[in-house]
Amino acid sequence: MARYTGPQCRLCRAEGSKLFLKGERCFSDHCAVTRKRPAPGKGLRSRQGKRTDYGVQLREKQKMKRIYCMLEKQFKITFQKAAGMPGRTGDSLIALLEKRLDNIVYRMRFASSRKQARQLVSHGHILVNGKRVTIPSYQLRVDDKVELGEKAKKLLSVKESMKEYTRSGVAPWLEVNPDALVGFLRAVPRRNDVTDLADIKEQLVVELYSK
Ligand code: SF4
Repeated sequence: MARYTGPQCRLCRAEGSKLFLKGERCFSDHCAVTRKRPAPGKGLRSRQGKRTDYGVQLREKQKMKRIYCMLEKQFKITFQKAAGMPGRTGDSLIALLEKRLDNIVYRMRFASSRKQARQLVSHGHILVNGKRVTIPSYQLRVDDKVELGEKAKKLLSVKESMKEYTRSGVAPWLEVNPDALVGFLRAVPRRNDVTDLADIKEQLVVELYSK
């Protein structure tokens, strides 16, 4: 499947906001957005024309898609599923994106970025309720158990990313045992709980796809 393989920071610079694609670096002073580096192809003095409503909605969708490392088709299918669910479509969309296995592996601090989490899943390092699952988009259900395989427990990258658990813990809808490297999804994530997406306006994505 075609996938963007260029520099991750370039995507953030293009959107003008942090998409958190590079783990620890994203929280450091080395982050290109923190350092206010200009968008690719745009000098400091270049001007951006006024965006149309469509342009603004499109950019917001691109941002969300990139945050969750998804391709257009996959993202649209997730949106359609959210649109068929009761309640606010934007909230359902975020809940579906957050319950993806690769995202949960990242949120449990077993990986320092969603990209790394996706690799752990597709390389067969993750078990859900005791069974190996290699599908990054796999939807978890409340009380599902997620654990690392024996090989992955020894990976340096896992040990490194678990340092973030020591620093910040995990999101309120998760429970993690950092010694056993096992976690549980304890609730469906609510919009207000996903604080690192505070800048994302999912309603614009709903408007874009509802045209
Ligand atoms: Fe790079 Fe992360 Fe900063 Fe984005 S948020 S520019 S990926 S360091």
